[in-house]
Amino acid sequence: MTSHHILVVEDEQEIRELLQYSIGRSGYTVSVVPDAESALVQLQNEAPDLILIDWMLPRMNGIELARRIRHDQYTKDIPLIMLTARGEEVDKLKSFDAGVDDYVTKPFSPRELNARIKALLRRVGDLEGSQLSVEGLSLDTVAHSVCVKGDYIHLRPTEYRLLELFLRHPKRAFHRSQLLDLVWGRSVFVDERTVDVHVLRLRKALHEYEMDTLVQTVHGVGYRLNPAFASA
Ligand code: CA
Repeated sequence: MTSHHILVVEDEQEIRELLQYSIGRSGYTVSVVPDAESALVQLQNEAPDLILIDWMLPRMNGIELARRIRHDQYTKDIPLIMLTARGEEVDKLKSFDAGVDDYVTKPFSPRELNARIKALLRRVGDLEGSQLSVEGLSLDTVAHSVCVKGDYIHLRPTEYRLLELFLRHPKRAFHRSQLLDLVWGRSVFVDERTVDVHVLRLRKALHEYEMDTLVQTVHGVGYRLNPAFASA
């Protein structure tokens, strides 16, 4: 399995570097950003396996960021750990209210933080439904990996999200407009033909494995998972 990807949102450079170093040393892939705004931009392109958020950030604070992450259907299930200053009991309560899974009090020991990360990832990984599969293909929603006939293949974020959506709803046919809403989000203004372009890319990626018919065209409607594969 590929290593878990952890996103760190921390404005203080020293702590950010410490986090990058100590988390990276535990074998995780780490990306760091200095504020909530950069985190939201990064999240549009790639969903990490866990996000570590400092409570005190400039402009948009950590709680507001956590709320936004929880309100976006593509990031709502990502485990969140909040870094708080000592003794902020009320803040801690608020952070749980915002959907934070765990918190670590500053100053923290890197060892303890890593133990919390590991425990949380394990807890999430144990949840049922991390594997979505059909005959010959499985998608791991925790590892964000796609395995086709024994090979791990790389999909771009949009193709990955399309595939995940079809696998989650194997009996449903989606209109192009629904796919736009669910995969691209309502706020994005793109043409419905964009859906066709990305379905084509997904099929191309699966072609080599003779699974390009996995996503079926439903004439006059849009697309659905091919029922021939769904019997796995
Ligand atoms: Ca801070």
